[in-house]
Amino acid sequence: MAFSTEAVFREDAYLRETEANVVGVNDRGGVILDRTIFYATSGGQPGDTGALIRNDGSRIAVSATITGETKDEIIHVPALDQARPEIGERLKLAIDWPRRHLLMRMHAACHLLTVVCPYPITGAAVSEDDSRVDFDLPDAGFTKEDVTAQLMELVRANHPICTRWISDDELAANANLVKSKNVRPPSGTGQIRLVCIGDNGSIDSQPCGGTHVAGTAEIGDIHIGKIEKKGRENRRFRIRFGAMPAI
Ligand SMILES: [Zn+2]
Repeated sequence: MAFSTEAVFREDAYLRETEANVVGVNDRGGVILDRTIFYATSGGQPGDTGALIRNDGSRIAVSATITGETKDEIIHVPALDQARPEIGERLKLAIDWPRRHLLMRMHAACHLLTVVCPYPITGAAVSEDDSRVDFDLPDAGFTKEDVTAQLMELVRANHPICTRWISDDELAANANLVKSKNVRPPSGTGQIRLVCIGDNGSIDSQPCGGTHVAGTAEIGDIHIGKIEKKGRENRRFRIRFGAMPAI
């Protein structure tokens, strides 16, 4: 039977450390806790890395975080040759915060890109230094300079980013909230998490389970590194940190 881990990062993406109890260790050494601040890989955002710290101060390095049999079961994958904790053991949890914060900034930047380019999304991948969003977009008609300028306008305006939960019925009544072409948000669980940018979601609202910064200014300088043609109907936009390099 799958465990259900309390996903603390969903309510507080800024929590860097907490404590939790070990509820399971799977046959590959994966550690399952009753609650966690480690984000599990999904929705294009990679899972957290960090450490589980035992009572004696020794550290179990976590090299990846993934979901298990169900989306609610979060598995902390130890690096090679790490000790395995005991079931029932209390551990301190510490995520690699500098890496997570980069991912939160990048993930929020991807949302802004979907505001500037309001087309169906066919894929996305967030990483610490370079992220991509693919759009169903036959003819770009965009320059990376224009898109960068519009992104930075949204960044500088420092719009708040927050989450709220809506029901399946509310989502069904607002089908335009879903920008992803191929991936539908999970329905049937009763509740969908919306990520809203701007007061009352005035800039954007879309279903997302990832971690984001609390305001757009925290994203900092970003630019479009490349707009690539991926097939007849797809354009891939790459977002990078920093100001656009002068050529
Ligand atoms: Zn998101």
